[in-house]
Amino acid sequence: MAAAATLSRLVRLRLYSISRNNGLLFNRVQRRGIAACIDPSVGLSDEQREFQKVAFDFAANEMAPHMAHWDQNEIFPVETMRKAAQLGFGGTCVHPDVGGSGLSRLDASVVFEALSTGCASTTAYMSIHNMCAWMIDTFGNNEQRGKYCPDLCSMEKFASYCLTEPGSGSDAASLLTSAKLQGDLYVLNGSKAFISGGGDTDVYVVMCRTGGKGPKGISCLVVEKGTPGLSFGKKEKKVGWNSQPTRAVIFEDCKVPVANRLGIEGQGFNIAMKGLNGGRINIASCSVGAAQACIQLTRDHMHVRKQFGEPLSNSQFLQFKLAEMATRLVASRLMVRQAALALQEDRPDAVPLCSMAKLFATDECFTICNQALQMHGGYGYLKDYAVQQFVRDIRVHQILEGTNEVMRMIIARSLLAEF
Ligand SMILES: Cc1cc2nc3c(=O)[nH]c(=O)nc-3n(C[C@H](O)[C@H](O)[C@H](O)COP(=O)(O)OP(=O)(O)OC[C@H]3O[C@@H](n4cnc5c(N)ncnc54)[C@H](O)[C@@H]3O)c2cc1C
Repeated sequence: MAAAATLSRLVRLRLYSISRNNGLLFNRVQRRGIAACIDPSVGLSDEQREFQKVAFDFAANEMAPHMAHWDQNEIFPVETMRKAAQLGFGGTCVHPDVGGSGLSRLDASVVFEALSTGCASTTAYMSIHNMCAWMIDTFGNNEQRGKYCPDLCSMEKFASYCLTEPGSGSDAASLLTSAKLQGDLYVLNGSKAFISGGGDTDVYVVMCRTGGKGPKGISCLVVEKGTPGLSFGKKEKKVGWNSQPTRAVIFEDCKVPVANRLGIEGQGFNIAMKGLNGGRINIASCSVGAAQACIQLTRDHMHVRKQFGEPLSNSQFLQFKLAEMATRLVASRLMVRQAALALQEDRPDAVPLCSMAKLFATDECFTICNQALQMHGGYGYLKDYAVQQFVRDIRVHQILEGTNEVMRMIIARSLLAEF
């Protein structure tokens, strides 16, 4: 135990080796000395530090060396994610009786933050997959949990979350995909837009209209790939998140057993929003991991790169920039971890705190990564260097799982309701 603790202390996060990766120079996160003030293990229990270390090691060894290749060749790294699932990262917050790891929200945040240092895009897809598995575990009956969760936790099967439609993004409750009851089947018609994993995944958690207008007319169905009437649009070309496919999901007289409905009719929007509370913590954690990696890459670049006869690290202007980046990083992490605790404890402030954490961390961490690119100069703009990929990958975190404008709406609504 003492040896393990010593090892944990010694094996601090460190980064930046310029390594050959498929013929490319690609600077990547590694473990080396890291300033205590941005050490992500500060404040964690011994157990949390241990699985954080496992996640950091996995990120450094199994993800970072391939991150550029996955991005540039648009590869969905199924086998790597299955390896991550063997470590318990396919169903972090799912109950152990159906194959999950039974971790807390804070634990999951620590895991996704660490994994994201190796590839933010792949980790972000894993966070969506985890959200779907959690929704089935939490709102499904025993039969549904037993049928879907074990394969999702092992990542033998992959899941997609289907809320957004071409005509309903921020105003998600206005969705139109209809599910008409016919005997013991629902017949689905409509389409979903921007679905992460769409076409490559096996299990679709679909919000659809079984009743009247508004959120109370929405139900949640699990639709399996291969169901007649289920098809997919073209693979979208994206700025980032290239290690995961994004497609439209289309339903044309797609017949789904009533037995695949999660919860009761009309509960679907509530289930979707409950899923997103945890999803927002996890996506924000991915941004924090990316920002941590970018700060460390920049710190090392500043030591190595010389201009005007001196390393960049001697420039007080750049020192101040680095200090600001570190401050934004630590503030983001604190907000995310505080929100994770609130959600875990089911506190009344959990929803606005999750929204604040998502708003703050995804904005601040994008600023950090973008500043890191700037401080790499022209090299930061080259695909040989990792910072540009972190910038491209986490830009979308400000847009999805509720845009950051929608986060402001949720926070303001909560504040004004307290009157
Ligand atoms: C790569 C990618 C992956 C995605 N993955 C998924 C997924 O797996 N599942 C899923 O369901 N969805 C997914 N989405 C969809 C995403 O959640 C939506 O794009 C997002 O909710 C915004 O909806 P929209 O694109 O229709 O923008 P719109 O709602 O049209 O908004 C456009 C802009 O206007 C702002 N805006 C809108 N209304 C207001 C208002 N009242 N006040 C102030 N500002 C406002 C928005 O914040 C935004 O900036 C994904 C999107 C992308 C890009």
